[in-house]
Amino acid sequence: MSATPAETPQVLNPEQVVRGLHPLMMAGSFILSLAVTLQYVGQWRLMAWAFGLSVLRILANVLLSKVFNRWLAPNTVEWIRMVCNVSGVAGIGLIAGWSLLLWIYIPFAMLWIFGMEGQSRLRALTYLVLMDTTALLSGADPFQPVAFTLLAVLIFRLTEKRAELLQQSLEHIIHQREQLSQAQGQLRVLHERALEQEKFSSLGMMAAGVAHEINNPMAFVTSNVHSLFKDLQQEPVLPAPLKEYVDEVLPATLDGIKRVNAIVSDLRRFARGDPEAYAEYDLNAEAEAAMRIAQGQLGHCRVEVALGEVGLLVGRPRQIVQVLVNLLVNAGQATGSTGVVRLSTRRQGEGVCVEIRDTGAGMTPETLRNLFQPFFTTKPPGMGMGLGLAVAHGLITGQGGHIQVESEPGKGSCFTLHLPRVAHRAALSSNKSQGVTLAAG
Ligand code: ADP
Repeated sequence: MSATPAETPQVLNPEQVVRGLHPLMMAGSFILSLAVTLQYVGQWRLMAWAFGLSVLRILANVLLSKVFNRWLAPNTVEWIRMVCNVSGVAGIGLIAGWSLLLWIYIPFAMLWIFGMEGQSRLRALTYLVLMDTTALLSGADPFQPVAFTLLAVLIFRLTEKRAELLQQSLEHIIHQREQLSQAQGQLRVLHERALEQEKFSSLGMMAAGVAHEINNPMAFVTSNVHSLFKDLQQEPVLPAPLKEYVDEVLPATLDGIKRVNAIVSDLRRFARGDPEAYAEYDLNAEAEAAMRIAQGQLGHCRVEVALGEVGLLVGRPRQIVQVLVNLLVNAGQATGSTGVVRLSTRRQGEGVCVEIRDTGAGMTPETLRNLFQPFFTTKPPGMGMGLGLAVAHGLITGQGGHIQVESEPGKGSCFTLHLPRVAHRAALSSNKSQGVTLAAG
């Protein structure tokens, strides 16, 4: 249903209109000439003059429109044509007298001369003046030129007006078509967004289910490990292996449990779209925290950190950390031992940017297109679930920000988080599907 330029009707210019009418006008001219010639049957000398002048006139018209128009400007062709026609018709009038059939040429010529370009009126006027003057000077009955001139002016004006109205209505139709194709384009975009939102909401439902399933066992695992840790701590004397548990294994386990709980609660919040309490936070401090958490995946490559003066933000810092950790882990996994992963922050306009750039494998256009689709992953089974960026997308747009991605296969990738200084919840619904900008390098 989409409109293509080829389907759009073209507005014809006066020259094209004249060209389109040409065969019909030539046929009309031929019939009129025949009638004018045949009226002199019996008066053979006059008939020969009428015939000869008509043939010359028609020949001149054919040559002008088929041959000379290649070298002459259209306007010049029309002026010469007008002079030829006046000469041919007036010549018959002068030699054979001004018959009624001859006068029909005058309104007929107005149809020839018609055109909406500036000089057509001047040509029509010149035609009428030349014909009428010649006729009156050669003693024609004055009522005939007056009557046919009036008729000619009316015909000219009516034709001109009709063409104007037709052109206006055509332009109106074209305008409507353009509006229609714009509306179709907008509809297509909305449809794509609706599909995208549909995908994200099904992800949300699934995430809620998974989070719920994990949450229940995690509750008693947390409570039991906590109690065990407390009980063991209270024991005054412990055998060496248990002491090692109290000093190292259990605190590390509790730390891990805390992280799992935080992820589950983020997942539930994301799934419900439930806004966590907004808080003022130091973006650079959170970026450093994310860097520390992701360190395990970045040890093999060079890491650069360039934190600018971005000041304090209002939003959901834990979610920001979660997104940054995911982006840093992805960057680390894509980058070899000689590569660089760079984390930087800077102000940009009213908001701030966090950039995670790597010199790793980069992404193909196909990967770029599917990047934020839930469960899209190019990693081997067990290495990636394909949820990190889908979740990141939801979390960032939920705070009124958006993610920009640039990548070139073999050269690396750059993920830029654009965040407002004060996160706004209203963005959650409207920006959800607008929060991604992709660019292939
Ligand atoms: P996962 O990491 O589980 O695969 P993500 O949603 O985090 O899921 O990432 C989806 C896919 O995006 C990855 O499998 C990978 O192909 C691609 N990707 C993400 N970040 C990068 C990066 N920095 N460099 C190259 N590819 C990346």
